[in-house]
Amino acid sequence: KVVCVTGASGYIASWLVKFLLQRGYTVHATVRSLRQPLLLSNFDFSSAFISETFSTSTVPLIYAADDPKKTEHLLALDGAKEKLSLFEANLTEEGSFESAVNGCECVFHTASPVLLSVSEPQTQLLDPAVKGTLNVLKSAAKVPSLKRVVLTSSMAAVMFPAKPQELGDVIDETWFSDPETCEQKKLWYALSKTLAENAAVKFSKENGLELVVINPGYVIGPILQPTLNLTSEGIMGMIETGKEVFPDGIYRLVDVRDVANAHILAFENPEANGRYCLVGFVIRSSEIMKILNTYYPALSHSERCVSIFIFKV
Ligand code: NDP
Repeated sequence: KVVCVTGASGYIASWLVKFLLQRGYTVHATVRSLRQPLLLSNFDFSSAFISETFSTSTVPLIYAADDPKKTEHLLALDGAKEKLSLFEANLTEEGSFESAVNGCECVFHTASPVLLSVSEPQTQLLDPAVKGTLNVLKSAAKVPSLKRVVLTSSMAAVMFPAKPQELGDVIDETWFSDPETCEQKKLWYALSKTLAENAAVKFSKENGLELVVINPGYVIGPILQPTLNLTSEGIMGMIETGKEVFPDGIYRLVDVRDVANAHILAFENPEANGRYCLVGFVIRSSEIMKILNTYYPALSHSERCVSIFIFKV
């Protein structure tokens, strides 16, 4: 069976590709650029982050160069030699995904910019998310073998409705973020995910595509790719500085491996439909800080800063 994963070099997608190969799928993996810049050491990145989510006793503070090899970890996966093909595709280029989706039974559309601080929301976030999603779906809709599209949306597209939130509200798949509310609050990432999910649902209905949407919370867990993604960086930031990134924040955490597996189930289970919120557990920022301080007490604030400096240069 042939499937396509967009944004394959990303955090979630790398695990998705790994699990798909393990299950015997042939994977068409799209990456934004196939340039192969400087070689990193042969460090085993699978253990470079908090391997078993907060359960290791040491965290190697490894930082990658700005533009390290984005595909080496994919090409090194078991089965990659026989069953993984790389395709260059950019969300902002129309028709860019045509060859990657060709012959596929499923398109897992994970690619989308994940940025919290932007100067130009329209070009940095909204266009690649919304136009990019339609770009992928338009190409997918032309493929006779296509059975289903699985879209990686986000809890950001769920939990900012127009109605005021009450204490004790249970947030579930019936909630939809309101674009106007997101815009008023300048929640540009949430707006990008909300508009992209809405556009995908509309396009799929109009064009008879089967679509299943996955809405993960804040994703944590080991990384396969050589650079930290935004959410790993957030946790690493707390380890480095000993400070909460969002003081008094509430995190809806989910393990990256569960997120990847949920994508596969969303394709393989014929009964899967609509959208699925993925949250493993809900925790206050201060509680995360306590856990990190318990596991990494040896690093004082100044030691942390020195370690970061050494590994960043
Ligand atoms: P990553 O940043 O690791 O992955 C994002 C991927 O999208 C990268 O491969 C990136 O490529 C690609 N991408 C971005 N812009 C473009 C573009 N213009 N053209 C082609 N590819 C592009 O983040 P995650 O793995 O965390 O995110 C993956 C998906 O999961 C996203 O849709 C995100 O919104 C969603 N999500 C993530 C959550 C999290 O906590 N991490 C929570 C909920 C949802 P490149 O490396 O070249 O930039």
